[in-house]
Order: sequence, then C-alpha cells, then structure tokens
Amino acid sequence: MTRPFNFSAGPATLPLEVLQQAADEMIDWQGCGMSVMEISHRGPEFASILKQTLGDIRETLSVPPEFHILLMQGGGLAENAIVPLNLLPPDASAPVMNFIVTGAWSQKSFKEAARYGRTHLAAQVQPLPLSIPAISQWKLTPTPAYVHICSNETIDGVEFHEIPDLQSLGCHAPLVMDCSSNLASRSIDWARVGLAYGGAQKNVGIAGLTLVFVHESLLTEALPICPSVFNFKTVAKHQSMYNTPPSYAIYITGLVFQWLKRQTHGNLTGLAAIEARNIQKAQSLYDFIDASDLYENKVSVECRSRMNVPFHLRHSSLNQNFLAEANRAGLRQLQGHQSVG
Ligand code: PMP
Repeated sequence: MTRPFNFSAGPATLPLEVLQQAADEMIDWQGCGMSVMEISHRGPEFASILKQTLGDIRETLSVPPEFHILLMQGGGLAENAIVPLNLLPPDASAPVMNFIVTGAWSQKSFKEAARYGRTHLAAQVQPLPLSIPAISQWKLTPTPAYVHICSNETIDGVEFHEIPDLQSLGCHAPLVMDCSSNLASRSIDWARVGLAYGGAQKNVGIAGLTLVFVHESLLTEALPICPSVFNFKTVAKHQSMYNTPPSYAIYITGLVFQWLKRQTHGNLTGLAAIEARNIQKAQSLYDFIDASDLYENKVSVECRSRMNVPFHLRHSSLNQNFLAEANRAGLRQLQGHQSVG
C-alpha cells in the first residue's frame, strides 16, 4: 500500500503506527473478545481506556491540576456557542465578550457568540502581509466576560507564537482559546489561559471528539438555556460520562497521545520533540517558499503558522496544472480551503 502525502487539515493524516494498532485491536481489544466500538462505556475496559487517555493528555500537555479536561462532542464550532452559554452570567447587563479576529475561524466565533450576549471586536488581523496587532493595541472593554482568540487560524495560516498575557494589560478576564489546529503541536503556557478547546480530528485523533480544558474557577452556573450535555460543570462532575462519550474517538486519541509520548528529537521527548520537529519543518518550508519565484506566502513572519502553511502560486493561471501534477505525485488536498483557493 502506498500512502499519499495527505495535506488535509482535518480529518488529517494519523501516524501509521496508531492506525496499525487500531487495526490489530479492532475486533478484539486486549483479549476481551470485543471491539472498543462494542464495549459499554460504563464497563471496566472503557474505564481503563478513559483513565489512561486523560492521564496521557494531562502529562503530555503539562495540564495543571486546576484545569479539568472535558471530552465532549460538537467540534470546535459547537464550542462557539457552548462557551458563552457557560461563561456568561444570566442577566442582560452581563459583561461583554471580547474577540480578537485573526481569520476565518475567529470570525465565526465572534459571529456565533453574538447570539448569546454582547460582543466587541477588540482587534483584527491586518492586511497584507497578514499580521496580528500587538496586544498593547487591543481595544478591550473595561471588564470583559472573556477575551477570545484562535491560536492558529487554519485557513489563513496565522498563528499566535506566544499566548497573549492579558494580565500585562491589567485585564483579569479569562482568555478563551480555540486551539483546534495547533493543539499538541507546541507547549501551552497554561497560566495565561482560562479555557482552551479544539476538535480531535486535526492533531490528536478522529472526528467526533472535542477536547475542552477549563480552569476550575470557570465552572460556575451556566445560562438556564444551556443544554445539560454541554454544561461544563455537569460534564466535569461526571468525568465526561454524563451521557455516552464518543468512546472510539477517545480510544484513538489515547493511542495518539501514547505515540506522542514515544516521540524523540535529539535528546527531547514527547511534546518538546514534536515542537522542535515542527519548528524545523515549518522553517524549511517557509525558507523554500520565500526563495521561490513560483510560490508566495502572504503572512508576516512573526505570526506565520507552523501548522498550516498557505502558499499561492504567483501566477494563478498555473493553479489547475499545479494541482493536477501534485495529485499525480501523491500530494493530496493542496488546494486550500474553498474560501481562499
Ligand atoms: N476552529 C478552527 C481553528 C478550525 O480549524 C476548525 C475546523 N477546520 C474549527 C474551529 C471547526 O471545528 P469543527 O469542524 O470541529 O467544528
């Protein structure tokens, strides 16, 4: 079997070792005679998978004990509604949700939140080359309900290289971060984060599972209209088992985190190894694009994504030829998102 180079941002390529282990265990998980797909989520087998997975996620990403790790459903987009439903107080004078819009995904978050409360655009990506305004230029409201960022804009290729320090602005609101496409690609400074979320299907598994990391201080009362299955406090209280969790997706994420733990790069291991490798790969790709007469990247160096590198042909008339040749060479999904071409 020849595997193509699959550039889909998500669902995305998985480590072959993970797929092979899943295949080996597909029909009979560790001698229990059943597939993970078939076993009860309340039984001892799944309890051990869940425990191991949560432990490996916490260890690999160095998640501090005051954060709950919630395994939910609905993907990143559902969180755009679930977060305001959980973090806003129930009165009309609720504080304003502040948004930093750096691309298509944070734009969606901004729009969706307005269905649940008052929103404010505190900063916006600047064209061209695309750049993120310095945090000192953000126009935050006096006491925001929270400040939302997308740490990596998958479509636009814009990434925060450092998590913004709201405290440095004298802002004590929680930072909410959509990290769907750079989760587990780099270390996270948890001291600057109140809540982070992302679907598993890009970097840590398959579609159907959403990871939510929430600081315990944010587990307050949700709005009365918040569905119980999406109530962070309820989900946390039931250790992500309030209703049937996406058990097979959790199992695959468990295998991915075991794989992540095994990675090495020089004398680095685990996430540090992955991060070092990502820096190296992204650098060689950007160096190549910048030196090329054929390709260009339209993002400022200080916020270029390590995970999603959008490149354009300088002559768009070559696009169709390029894609056809790429496809023949086993390079799939290079056409970029439909909204950017
Ligand atoms: N946020 C980002 C940064 C994304 O890349 C995506 C998916 N491409 C989403 C949110 C939406 O996630 P989902 O499809 O899991 O709802």
